[in-house]
Amino acid sequence: MKILVLGGGGREHALVWKLNQTPRVEKVWCAPGNAGIAAEAECIAIDAGDIGAIVAFAEKAHPDLTIVGPELPLVNGLTDAFRQRNWPIVGPSQQAAQLEGSKIFSKEFLRRHHIPTAKMYGTYDSAADVYRALHSAPFPLVIKADGLCAGKGVFLAPDFAAAKDFVERVMEKNELGSGGKRILLEETLEGEELSFIILTDGKRYAPLVPTRDHKRVFDGNQGPNTGGMGAYSTDELLPDELPEIVRSKIVEPTLRGLAADGIPYQGFLYIGLMLTSSGPKVLEFNCRLGDPEAQVILARLDFDLAEILSDVAAGRLNPSKLRWKPGASACVVLTSGGYPGKFESGKRIDGLTAAEGITGVKVLHAGTKLAGNALVTNGGRVLGVTAAAPNIESALASAYEAASRIHFAGMHYRKDIGAHATKLKAAGD
Ligand code: AMP
Repeated sequence: MKILVLGGGGREHALVWKLNQTPRVEKVWCAPGNAGIAAEAECIAIDAGDIGAIVAFAEKAHPDLTIVGPELPLVNGLTDAFRQRNWPIVGPSQQAAQLEGSKIFSKEFLRRHHIPTAKMYGTYDSAADVYRALHSAPFPLVIKADGLCAGKGVFLAPDFAAAKDFVERVMEKNELGSGGKRILLEETLEGEELSFIILTDGKRYAPLVPTRDHKRVFDGNQGPNTGGMGAYSTDELLPDELPEIVRSKIVEPTLRGLAADGIPYQGFLYIGLMLTSSGPKVLEFNCRLGDPEAQVILARLDFDLAEILSDVAAGRLNPSKLRWKPGASACVVLTSGGYPGKFESGKRIDGLTAAEGITGVKVLHAGTKLAGNALVTNGGRVLGVTAAAPNIESALASAYEAASRIHFAGMHYRKDIGAHATKLKAAGD
């Protein structure tokens, strides 16, 4: 098989790594890829959001399967362009990707199908209307910009002044661009968060192994939100009854709702949940694998990824074929100093060979490039040091030992990934 992977971060490196472990895969392209991916696949200098250029490339290269990593090509309609041409691709349609691309679409969907979620106070398309609503709204409340905002579109407002300031920046100063044209106000939920990710062909689905990620930049969940500073996976994470509750109350009603609305969903569906005292509730949908969740999920994979993803594209997923390594995995993200604020790129990276000498460790590249013969930093999140092991303690120990062998100027990482990797409380406790 010849496979095209779209994207250029740690998630896509993890996909390329696992695809290459399948004997049936003879060629992998990645657009645009990065320096780590370039050692394992042919990188194509095409932006993953450029639908026209990707279609033109596929027309010449004839990939047997295309796998979409990030959300932008999905929201831009890439899978629709491929399916019109009968080209196999894994990822939801443009319409289905609205579950991620529009918080209002997603909230209306959840309400229509009676799927548990935070109570909505209202949706607004002018700042004046939001200010009026805020006068009678209960605080704290959550303000969500409708469109894609690179993780900056959600604000937990403690009081009126903070809420007004956020709305002003989003709706009047357009700081988030067109993603901030409409706004949703909703109830604040309390509890522990859990990412529940499934793979589906629209009819059947398989849950992937459970994961948790760490979004804040500093230890102890301090500092601003990032794309993700690390993640871990272990089967012990979930209380026994929780998967069944999530399947019956959230996953299955979601797939039934999509089918009833005439928008069948095919690909990865990431469901962000809050485990509240009255049961799990949906915070958000993402229409793709998370990053760095993908790294820890794929590190535990024990099946032929190319075969399963081809089955998904063909609408014949057999969930019993998805097998996982027992034990655990962990990913520690190494970032440029200053991220998620201003940072410098072009810093020389050393120590990768020593890091990968540790059993079970794979260093997945995110923001890297080659400058002559030297590997240098090229982004906020630079590397995802990933380890699989028989238990979470040894997965974390290996990932941290490997991270300590890597150096670049300004390098930062959290020291407490998975530190509280205790079983989540059962919903309703
Ligand atoms: P979202 O992109 O909608 O998941 O929002 C990003 C983050 O904001 C989530 O991972 C939660 O930590 C938080 N969040 C979103 N909605 C709510 C809510 N209704 N109550 C409390 N926290 C929320």
